[in-house]
Amino acid sequence: MLTDQGAKNWRLCCGSLPGSIREDTLGKDSRVVRTDVLVIGAGAAGIRAAIEAKKQGVETLLVAKGGLGESGSTFYPNGWGWGFQASLGIVDKKDTPGEHLQDILEASLDMCDESLAEILAREAPERIKDLIDYGLEFDKRNGEYVQNYGCFNKRPRAFIVTGMDKIRRFFTGAVRNHSIRVMQNTMVVDLILQEDTCVGAVGVDARGQVVVFEAKSVVMATGGGGNLFLFNLNTPDITGDGQAIAFRAGAELANLEFFQIGFGVLYPVEKTLFEGLLFRHKPRLYNGVQREFIKDYLPSGVDMEECFRFRAAHMPFSTRDVSKYIDIASFREVIEGRSGPHGGILIDLTNVSRGALRANPSEEAWWSQVKARGFDPTKELMEVTLHVHALNGGLRINERTETSVPGLYAAGEVAAGPHGADRPGGNMMPATQVFGARAGEFAAKRAKSMKRYCAKKKIAEELEVSIQQMMRRKDGVLVKDAKDRIQKIMWENVLVGRREENLAHCLSTLSRIEQRELPELAISNTDELFDALALSNMVQLGKMMVTAARARRESRGSHHRDDYPKMDKNAGRSVVFRREGEEITYHSEHL
Ligand SMILES: Cc1cc2nc3c(=O)[nH]c(=O)nc-3n(C[C@H](O)[C@H](O)[C@H](O)COP(=O)(O)OP(=O)(O)OC[C@H]3O[C@@H](n4cnc5c(N)ncnc54)[C@H](O)[C@@H]3O)c2cc1C
Repeated sequence: MLTDQGAKNWRLCCGSLPGSIREDTLGKDSRVVRTDVLVIGAGAAGIRAAIEAKKQGVETLLVAKGGLGESGSTFYPNGWGWGFQASLGIVDKKDTPGEHLQDILEASLDMCDESLAEILAREAPERIKDLIDYGLEFDKRNGEYVQNYGCFNKRPRAFIVTGMDKIRRFFTGAVRNHSIRVMQNTMVVDLILQEDTCVGAVGVDARGQVVVFEAKSVVMATGGGGNLFLFNLNTPDITGDGQAIAFRAGAELANLEFFQIGFGVLYPVEKTLFEGLLFRHKPRLYNGVQREFIKDYLPSGVDMEECFRFRAAHMPFSTRDVSKYIDIASFREVIEGRSGPHGGILIDLTNVSRGALRANPSEEAWWSQVKARGFDPTKELMEVTLHVHALNGGLRINERTETSVPGLYAAGEVAAGPHGADRPGGNMMPATQVFGARAGEFAAKRAKSMKRYCAKKKIAEELEVSIQQMMRRKDGVLVKDAKDRIQKIMWENVLVGRREENLAHCLSTLSRIEQRELPELAISNTDELFDALALSNMVQLGKMMVTAARARRESRGSHHRDDYPKMDKNAGRSVVFRREGEEITYHSEHL
């Protein structure tokens, strides 16, 4: 069941940092940058939005916290490439957008916005054609495009791009070819509101200079929030900023309890995905005292071989089948202190032949990656643990990608709706392209009919003062220490096996960090600035994730409650968060 069906309130606390800045806020001098459409985030979604806005003939500015082609999950350096689901029916002639939609709905378990899922399935074929037209080379075999099955998909629909360098070159080239103005290494800290309408943003560059962006429309495309967790497969800039920033401005958030968790490698190649398909070889899993532990966790009647068979079918953890016992057992062994030397569990594939380990294209891609780093899994044991991979929930958007804040659009992993409790593998990339293109188009059309807001000269003082205070503070809280505490408490309590008492403990710890540590942060140089400014976003989003997980007293898809292990058919509505003045409320509804 879902608890607290009515609204629940608590106060919004932004630590030492500003909430969304009202136009009458006074500040000191700052650099002002003007544009029609401001796109925040330069992953696949932000770049696609910027291309579309530019094509509409409006001034477009792309701002990224990291470097172009380096920041965000789109360019995750330890990845092998991408899968992109689009029902063009090349390999399987019977595949249609309708079939694609059915797969999304089945994976979603009632948690997605069906109209957004339908748009995703219908428009993915057009958007992949755009990418091909722009010059992205998808893999071919014997002159035909390859299409693989992805997790939770019934037909071979995933187009493949192998090689992160190829992806990087393509997107940086696309930005250049469309003459899109870019500001890299610049972090947006808050949105600027004029009478509750978004009219720009305020940020800071890597040297610590505050920048005010004046814009007619703003697109949020800041990706997910993997760095809220100790172990994650995201680049370090992905800290849930967009979700928290837009929420402070009045946007709604939904489905925060659903995110993808999968095995990542701790040794010998850190922060690399463990290819889920390898579970089909039924590897031996040992804890730190060399005990094969999985069978200790299997209820009577559940067969270990069946667990491995299901586990090989999907990379992310899901409560939908018996494969869940592998993740639950592995996580519990680590949490209870029986981990290996690198903090994980050991996977033994040494009894599998090299040929068998490379029999499938996904395995082959994984094999090449680990071999390139000098590791041979047929000779040595690997150490793995659960890592956070991608969020399924985020900012609530409509079909035009509008959030509930006028002038603010959202696309890509930051946005909720197209995905639900589980997400079919290879569906986030099409989501970045389908909703990125829509966001760019609608934001540009709006910009054409709007006057540009003119920032008050001193609008950024609060941020400048906040930065100066952190720089001057001598014996304050170290950014690294506060970040470590947030990541550890989130990873230990909000992965699998969520329990009421653990979630309550996590929430109170986050509140304590927010109230006692964030106002006392000290930074010694500007290298720490982005991390320091991200901490309040991490805490605010983390608190809402925990609250959503607490409210959902059942297990569904990627959300596993140890104390409520079954799915409750009466809980098929999403948890939606809303800001009302200084209060945060949440309720449940169908998206
Ligand atoms: C290892 C791995 C493999 C994956 N494989 C697949 C796959 O095969 N198929 C699939 O569909 N999906 C896959 N995913 C998921 C998919 O890659 C991501 O969901 C997707 O790339 C997100 O794109 P995005 O543009 O929304 O965000 P990102 O690519 O994460 O980009 C976010 C951008 O926002 C910027 N940013 C963040 N905060 C701020 C701020 N405050 N101010 C300014 N800029 C900011 C970042 O610097 C970055 O430029 C995978 C994910 C991972 C981690």
